[in-house]
Amino acid sequence: MIQFLDIKEINLSIENELKNAFDRVLHSGWFVHGQEVEKFEEEFASYCGTSGAVGVSNGLDALHLILKAYDIGPGDEVIVPSNTFIATWLAVTYCGATPIPVEPLVDTYNIDPARIEAAINQRTKAIIAVHLYGQTADMDPIIAIGKKYGLRVIEDAAQAHGATYKGRKAGGLGDAAAFSFYPGKNLGALGDGGAVTSNDINLISKVRQLSNYGSQVKYKHDVQGYNARLDELQAAFLRVKLNHLDAQTEIRRQFAAAYSKQLCDVIVPHVISDAMPVWHLYVIRTKQRDQLLQRLKDLGVMALIHYPVPPHLQGAYAAHGYSRGDFPISEMIHEEVLSLPMGPTLSSTDIQKVVESVAKSL
Ligand SMILES: *Cc1c(COP(=O)(O)O)cnc(C)c1O
Repeated sequence: MIQFLDIKEINLSIENELKNAFDRVLHSGWFVHGQEVEKFEEEFASYCGTSGAVGVSNGLDALHLILKAYDIGPGDEVIVPSNTFIATWLAVTYCGATPIPVEPLVDTYNIDPARIEAAINQRTKAIIAVHLYGQTADMDPIIAIGKKYGLRVIEDAAQAHGATYKGRKAGGLGDAAAFSFYPGKNLGALGDGGAVTSNDINLISKVRQLSNYGSQVKYKHDVQGYNARLDELQAAFLRVKLNHLDAQTEIRRQFAAAYSKQLCDVIVPHVISDAMPVWHLYVIRTKQRDQLLQRLKDLGVMALIHYPVPPHLQGAYAAHGYSRGDFPISEMIHEEVLSLPMGPTLSSTDIQKVVESVAKSL
């Protein structure tokens, strides 16, 4: 059986380092907002090449806190991709603002910059570009549109730790970026976690304040904030895991190259010349998706669908009045994509077996 992603094995491969990190926190007697979070924030900002980072509770909160810090709320509109994990939309509605979906490019699955301007009006405040599956969106034209209309450009980098665009890392490409450290992400905690990165020190300090009850000085609350902090324990684990991230990304890149070279009769991922993806997911596309998924399962290969239902067709957004056919590119993608096993603990033999199993199944 070839697992989709063996999180247990990924963590056990560095068991002693994680146990040492646990001991360090246990013996410090300090569990919220201490040395580990502070050091992780410095190390993660340095990794992303940004002036600052704030550790927060999870990726959804990271997006939400950025939008709140930019004063986005009821009556405002935020442009989002029509094909993304629902959290991107939820962050917008969480603020009381309205998500305005824009269709993706069919080859990269990332938001189509050429379709953004048509979605902008007086109420538009920001654009959230998602680096889906670990490849950055085509950021330069998006940033140019942001400048032209005075909009904030926010990266949803939850799947893109370490991905680059024109040599620059995800997290420092727009005005602010949100990361998730959910256990299955490329940089995964042993629980929930997230971060906001930015080159704007004001934004960083606003997010820090909002994430800690709206307080900058203990018991002084200038704004109504949240409790959306990263734990010391998770920060300590993340510091260990950040040291291994680039080596793991390199393995993912080798597997992705092997897949793309050998897979036949399916559409393999298209990488734009400016981008170096980190292959959070390796996603193929075929009209025979459902049949392929079932046959792979019979052959002992675990594949998954990211994602089966686009946000506009979810019950959560029923009140927004969308129906099937409103975002045809996104709907087609959702019907045809399949994510193959991908992760640093697979072997080349596993990848070979997946390739052969796909060939047998079509
Ligand atoms: C995982 C993910 C999120 C949410 O992160 P959580 O830490 O699970 O809240 C947001 N956007 C995208 C694209 C994601 O993949």
